[in-house]
Amino acid sequence: MVGKHMIPKAALFLAILGVIGFWVWGGVINTPAVPSPTVEETTVFRHETVYACGHRDVEQGQAPLELQGLTISEILDLYPDSDGWSVFLNLPEEMAVSQKTSKLCAEHASYRHLGVYDGRVAVFEGPLGGGGRLLQVKDIPVDRLPEFYRLKLIQATAFAEQSCELQDELRRELEFPDEEALHAALENLDEIQQD
Ligand SMILES: [Zn+2]
Repeated sequence: MVGKHMIPKAALFLAILGVIGFWVWGGVINTPAVPSPTVEETTVFRHETVYACGHRDVEQGQAPLELQGLTISEILDLYPDSDGWSVFLNLPEEMAVSQKTSKLCAEHASYRHLGVYDGRVAVFEGPLGGGGRLLQVKDIPVDRLPEFYRLKLIQATAFAEQSCELQDELRRELEFPDEEALHAALENLDEIQQD
């Protein structure tokens, strides 16, 4: 009689052990701890700077030492949206970071162009359509310039909306690679003012 009772108890005990065992070990097997991907020595790293004039500098190579070992969230902390960064991550194979800056590219930083400010001829930083800062307002009222020149200055204020042909023409007239060329153009404007 005792033996008959022992068997079901032992079976029940084993069954409970089995359930606990499955719960403990099965659970671990079902959700294996996958390490989150990090930047590795072999990660291809691409760094891009997007300038106000629209030009880009791109460098590509091996991930810098200081980034190696970092996780996705650590990378995102290093390159915040608030500083103009965009981040593309496909770790551990590749990562790309791109930053928008209000600066002009090396070639265009010395450029100047003419426009209109408060009814007068004004000098702006960078090439036409590049979003450069206002640098100087000249004592040359636009109304006193010959019609063809006045029209070009007005067209230049909506540069992006003009046809490619007209944009090229405006560049030839109103855009200068450096201060010297700008100065010559301003002297010429002074002379063609009408009373
Ligand atoms: Zn540029």
